[in-house]
Amino acid sequence: MNIMSINAGSSSLKFSLFNMDTKDVLLSGLFERIGIEGSNYTIKYNDCKIKEEALMETHSDAIKILMDKIIELGVVKSLEEINGIGHRIVHGGSIYKESVVVTDKVLDDIIALSDLAPLHNPAHAICIKAFRDVLPNTPMVVVFDTAFHQTIEKDRYLYAVPYNWYTDYQVRKYGAHGTSHRYVAEKLKEELGRDDLNIICCHLGNGGSITAIKAGKCVDTSMGFTPHAGIIMGTRSGDIDVSMVPYVMEKAGKSAGEIMNDLNKKSGFLGISGISSDSRDIEDGIKEGNERCILTQKMYVNSIVKYIAEYYLLLGHVDVIAFTAGIGENSMDTRSDVIEKLSPLGIFINPEANNVRGKFAKISDKNSKVDVYIVPTNEELMIAQDTLKLIDRM
Ligand code: ADP
Repeated sequence: MNIMSINAGSSSLKFSLFNMDTKDVLLSGLFERIGIEGSNYTIKYNDCKIKEEALMETHSDAIKILMDKIIELGVVKSLEEINGIGHRIVHGGSIYKESVVVTDKVLDDIIALSDLAPLHNPAHAICIKAFRDVLPNTPMVVVFDTAFHQTIEKDRYLYAVPYNWYTDYQVRKYGAHGTSHRYVAEKLKEELGRDDLNIICCHLGNGGSITAIKAGKCVDTSMGFTPHAGIIMGTRSGDIDVSMVPYVMEKAGKSAGEIMNDLNKKSGFLGISGISSDSRDIEDGIKEGNERCILTQKMYVNSIVKYIAEYYLLLGHVDVIAFTAGIGENSMDTRSDVIEKLSPLGIFINPEANNVRGKFAKISDKNSKVDVYIVPTNEELMIAQDTLKLIDRM
């Protein structure tokens, strides 16, 4: 069985085609600047990388090019060998608690939820329709990034704001990165052979979130109504006191949109360091003694530890702290800085075991009361697995 995993943005489309028998990626890549001058695509296949410019006015144009290339490269003999397509959807609101097969109703819901994800959901809908045009007989599944967090109880997903903000405007915690957190939880269950694990999962990438997981179910997550909340990120502030918003609007003569842009795109690592949103640049700055980079890392680690400490109490007993995504998988310094702060809980890192990047590995000391693991995430595979499961039942 071959399954295509799709992650569409407003002007981009990422794809991976999996052979689900072997879990091998047959082909992967990215279309960029769809509908914008300079549209181009990159395809990785058999250790080769093809990068070309091509006129693409719509997502349908990109998909047609992709299908032609798949045949031209001989990845499959006919498009019927693509047995299903799974789409990552950023927002499923309170409606979708798990992945589902695409129907007209599902498509309408995704469009109706655009208020909650104005940049993403409309693009997902366009892409689903475009695939329907090009591959009308291929079953499609949608995998929601919010679905994993739908098991959070009301006393943890509500904000203490006027109740009608929730009932009238759907203001509540939704979280994000659910597909990644779920992948990590399932991988740990499989590797450790236990389905009762209490896990604190730290997804530390350009965006970042921490999730408390009890026996495979999410009980809380650090992101909130939007992916803005929680820990400090590459360019996002994470949790802030909202009163600073009208205050700075007035002081700086900025509009609400400009302030949101500052908080989304000019804050986090970039805002504090004044240098970069990339953790590698921050680590280089620290080695050179740059005070603002040192401060950035301290604030970053503090924000992570705050959530781990809260979730430690929430779970009562923790079996595993997991690190995943770009920084979690690669930054030895961030992992050791975080774990060092957890020593009052009897949690300790093994520096030698921590000297590893991007591999499933146990990195805690043998005396540690909680096991610490690196678990490389694979959202694309998770999407493909859900797709396979659901189309098997059709
Ligand atoms: P996203 O998917 O949210 O865009 P990623 O999960 O790709 O983000 O993570 C991007 C972050 O991972 C960047 O801050 C980058 O610096 C960091 N990262 C990637 N590789 C390394 C590395 N070798 N060492 C430290 N940080 C790394």
